[in-house]
Amino acid sequence: MPARQDVILGGGLAGLSAAYHLQLAGQSDWQVYEREQLPGGLARTVEVDGYRFDYGPHILFTIDKEMEELIRDLLGDNFHAQERRAYIYHEAHDLYTQFPFQGHLYGLPIPIVRDCLVGLVKAVEAQARGEFEPGNYEEWMRGFFGDGIADHLMIPYAKKIWTVEPSTMDFSWIGRRVPTPDVERIVRGALTDEVGQVGATSHFWYTKHGGIEPLPTALAARIENIHLEKTAIRIELPEKNVVFADGDIVAFENLVYTLPLPFIVKIATHVPPEVERACQGLRYQGIHCVNLGIDREAISDKHWIYFYEDQFPFHRLSLPANFSPDTVPAGKSSIATEVAFSDVRPLDLNSAVDKTIAGLKAAKLITDDDQIDLVHTEEIHPAYIIYDLDHAKNVAIIRDWLRDNGILTAGRFGEWQYFNMDHSMRSGKQAAEALLAGR
Ligand SMILES: Cc1cc2nc3c(=O)[nH]c(=O)nc-3n(C[C@H](O)[C@H](O)[C@H](O)COP(=O)(O)OP(=O)(O)OC[C@H]3O[C@@H](n4cnc5c(N)ncnc54)[C@H](O)[C@@H]3O)c2cc1C
Repeated sequence: MPARQDVILGGGLAGLSAAYHLQLAGQSDWQVYEREQLPGGLARTVEVDGYRFDYGPHILFTIDKEMEELIRDLLGDNFHAQERRAYIYHEAHDLYTQFPFQGHLYGLPIPIVRDCLVGLVKAVEAQARGEFEPGNYEEWMRGFFGDGIADHLMIPYAKKIWTVEPSTMDFSWIGRRVPTPDVERIVRGALTDEVGQVGATSHFWYTKHGGIEPLPTALAARIENIHLEKTAIRIELPEKNVVFADGDIVAFENLVYTLPLPFIVKIATHVPPEVERACQGLRYQGIHCVNLGIDREAISDKHWIYFYEDQFPFHRLSLPANFSPDTVPAGKSSIATEVAFSDVRPLDLNSAVDKTIAGLKAAKLITDDDQIDLVHTEEIHPAYIIYDLDHAKNVAIIRDWLRDNGILTAGRFGEWQYFNMDHSMRSGKQAAEALLAGR
């Protein structure tokens, strides 16, 4: 058997970034192994009949200057900065309001605006009295924004996307993900729709052509040792071997693991019972993407729309042509919808497409006269990890054991965190730095 090398499992953005940063540091004794025919993982784009769909629409935004520089360098001219046009649809009031809900209450029925503002004032008073000590995500929403904003939108939406009760979730992941405009902004946004964009995605980038896939493709093009169509089926411990589906066995010194963390229990040998229990404790949901090609140009000027009402199966839909016209054939449009499912809310595959089309008609995005040229579905599972109340404890148990066995974790699913593309790339770089520091 050849000498031990460092192995990176998974050629998504995290694995590619780990490899790239090792290579930049002048290292060459590492290999990337990827299951699919192409690298990129979730940051890939599928093309069907001239329509391009990401695996769930992917926009780029970051406050990480170094990752921004890398992304810009990778995309070169294929880079399009845009101002967000994101909305929330309220079927009950036949109305769109701008995203985020709490920053743009203007236009909603007065009793709802009153509930939201009164709740906000009460929440701010309680915060001033030092009474803001949330124990879970629902308490965080109520305590931070007040009962009105929580009850009218945030809690119904959270249930849709997470599939579980927000009272069973931690809120450590929120960071910049739930826009938190200040009180003055919320009041201004209730009195007028002339308020500016707020939140991390207020300006974002997309490519001019190719969907999101040119990003990982450009990164992979800079890396030497990528082996495609290599599915790891076993990690032998403590021997430190990776066994692949084609029978190859690779001995590793260090391993960067970017596959889903709970799957380690299925793939690794000699997993201690406490690690097995921790893996079983990790929770996640999936996204069923129902993508439609429509024989009509410019069906909407919006980038994406959120749906919190139960009659809609999807919690979000995007209009890829507004990110880049290159995602649709000339004279056509497309709609990419996302339906969340999990063990507590299984997907009804038989009705998913019909319910989606009915929902799009109810929201008046398509009409009975529209011709649907294409129905394309994708399943992403896991898609979002669920931050249940034991999340941090379970992740720490698994990662500590892996580290003791020469295995570092990286990426959205290796780290088991709510990582965007920039975070996953950063996390790959951190894994490379940890390997270099250990040498
Ligand atoms: C629906 C959805 C929408 C998103 N939207 C955005 C967005 O708008 N903006 C944003 O910045 N981020 C977004 N993200 C997050 C972004 O996709 C991830 O942060 C990033 O792509 C994760 O990269 P990764 O390398 O960590 O994981 P992955 O992309 O999952 O890479 C892991 C790789 O491991 C490979 N693999 C799996 N099993 C094996 C095996 N047994 N052997 C070998 N290889 C294997 C897989 O094929 C894959 O290539 C979104 C995610 C989802 C699910």
